[in-house]
Amino acid sequence: MDEIQWYFPQELDQVPEILSREGVVPHSGGTGILWGGMTRVQGLMDTSRLDLKFVRDQDGSIVLGAALSYTEAAEALAKADHVLTRSLSSAATEPLRNRISLGGSISMFPYWSDLMGPLLALDAELSLVGINSGTCPLSEYVQKRKLRQKSLITSIRWPDTPWQGAYYRHTRTPTDRPAFSITVLVLRKSKRIEEIRIVLVGCSGRYRRLIEVEQTLKGAEVPAEPVNFIDAAAAQFRIDFPARMGFSAEYLEACASVELKRALAAALRSSS
Ligand SMILES: Cc1cc2nc3c(=O)[nH]c(=O)nc-3n(C[C@H](O)[C@H](O)[C@H](O)COP(=O)(O)OP(=O)(O)OC[C@H]3O[C@@H](n4cnc5c(N)ncnc54)[C@H](O)[C@@H]3O)c2cc1C
Repeated sequence: MDEIQWYFPQELDQVPEILSREGVVPHSGGTGILWGGMTRVQGLMDTSRLDLKFVRDQDGSIVLGAALSYTEAAEALAKADHVLTRSLSSAATEPLRNRISLGGSISMFPYWSDLMGPLLALDAELSLVGINSGTCPLSEYVQKRKLRQKSLITSIRWPDTPWQGAYYRHTRTPTDRPAFSITVLVLRKSKRIEEIRIVLVGCSGRYRRLIEVEQTLKGAEVPAEPVNFIDAAAAQFRIDFPARMGFSAEYLEACASVELKRALAAALRSSS
């Protein structure tokens, strides 16, 4: 293998030229870069000297710099008891959480991501610098391969809405990566569910917004004893899984169906 060239930009306007070079890719936490293999990588652009570790409250939105680690992002949002604080604090192990960055995790989007479910449910938007400079919805970024090429994610933004929610990760041990995860966000006015978003990460096709379940619940009044109400909504759940991590596809589907009900119950409890 040829020697890898490192680049250390200090200003964002240096980034497009560096990423335009053949085989040069960003390096943030460095925990995922080897998963994709290094055969086509000729250069690594370190992001640590760029000003990308900020937390801003801007025009009714929360904006996080893409170089923040999971630990830093979780701490920044902890006061609001944010669903991301819960999901990111439970990812991997503490040494890994201190390294894994938001930008690297979005770019890589493994099925075991503890970041992407909450961000997709929040309808997050990304800022990019490179051949795709500008902003784009996260949901578009994950669909369009072209947006991921030769472009650096610089920040992540979402509307600062007072969601209540629940997050579940399906693991074999506390430090395991999840086989799937479920994010539920709810906005309630008294008993009525004003808005609800449910995202499952780790199914076939990598993730799904559970629109059918959301539609059953949106606008409905939550009864004092919500078991049948939740059962009826969760009955809309039809989702395929690949077999993985020693679990069969059928087993994962059955677990997800049960955990969806528990996550809905937890989200409705926390928002009451
Ligand atoms: C043992 C282990 C267990 C793990 N468990 C979990 C878990 O439980 N939950 C979880 O959520 N994650 C987990 N992870 C982390 C996950 O697998 C990835 O390694 C991580 O998300 C990558 O982030 P990074 O900052 O380290 O990216 P890097 O390794 O630096 O880069 C990964 C990819 O993203 C690109 N990239 C980096 N930064 C940017 C940017 N700003 N803009 C655009 N592209 C960029 C790189 O070029 C590369 O292609 C685990 C990792 C390991 C090693």
